[in-house]
Amino acid sequence: VTSLLPWPPSYLDSWKWAGARQLLQRCRQLHVGRALPSTLLLLGEPGLGREAVAVELACSLTCREGGAEGCTCTSCQRVRRGIHPDLAVLDVQPGKSDIVIEQVHQVVEDILQRPYEAEQRVFLVASVHTPPLNAHAASALLKTLEEPPSHVTFLLLAANPSRVLPTILSRSVQLHVPPPQHGELCDLLCRHHQLAEEQAEELLAAVKDASLALQADPESAPSTVATLETLLGDALNGDVLALLRLASQSKRDPATAAMTTASLLSLASSSDARDAERFLDAAAALITSERRRSALHLDPESTVAGTLARLLRQAASG
Ligand SMILES: [Zn+2]
Repeated sequence: VTSLLPWPPSYLDSWKWAGARQLLQRCRQLHVGRALPSTLLLLGEPGLGREAVAVELACSLTCREGGAEGCTCTSCQRVRRGIHPDLAVLDVQPGKSDIVIEQVHQVVEDILQRPYEAEQRVFLVASVHTPPLNAHAASALLKTLEEPPSHVTFLLLAANPSRVLPTILSRSVQLHVPPPQHGELCDLLCRHHQLAEEQAEELLAAVKDASLALQADPESAPSTVATLETLLGDALNGDVLALLRLASQSKRDPATAAMTTASLLSLASSSDARDAERFLDAAAALITSERRRSALHLDPESTVAGTLARLLRQAASG
């Protein structure tokens, strides 16, 4: 079944996770009691349940057969494929970096239209972070968010409320999509990265952040963690070649800086006191420079290589 929604199919499976199912159940109850707020902000990391909750909720809101969990009626199937006429998804268009104002104008005009088939029309905004929803586009949406027609529900997605404009926040009800439980995440990693269970556990132990684990290079993920630790150990012992390899690795994979930090912390926990201190110093320096890098939009390579080179010079001179 091909999906026209802007997410990979693996994103849409995760409504089966315990936390997401509970949240959906609550929303369905509110909907039946006509008490579901008209503008919901679903908070969670991409791919970890929020898209699935939004799509399954859209199914329930438009279903004509009661909208129970996992309903497979024609209407619900069309919602899941992104081809239901009463579901619209607002997302950045190919080749653009922002949601453009014309798209928002289209939505604002569109929602006045009665539903085609269902009792509700659902508008799903794939990310209300700024960007891609810039202040200009957001302000065009505000009045509609505040008083949408009774046949309209807005489902807005975001990872971090601090990247959402206060004017949007104040007009929506925030719902946190619970993250997957350990076993659920492990299972997802096994399927997503085609890993054996022990490898998935190893990756999770090395990278505590679930979304980071999912973004890690599918094929070399577990070996990357091991390689990183070896390279880091060598680099901090003055091996310039290891430092260069580390830098080139971080250029290929933007998640490397965070994984490097995780590896440093893991090395620190298994080293003697003197080495542990150096690894902890390096991790702290890396976190600081990574923050600076993202604020200044610098190349990831410059963070890892620059920080480690500085530490090497310090080690050599001390
Ligand atoms: Zn249905």
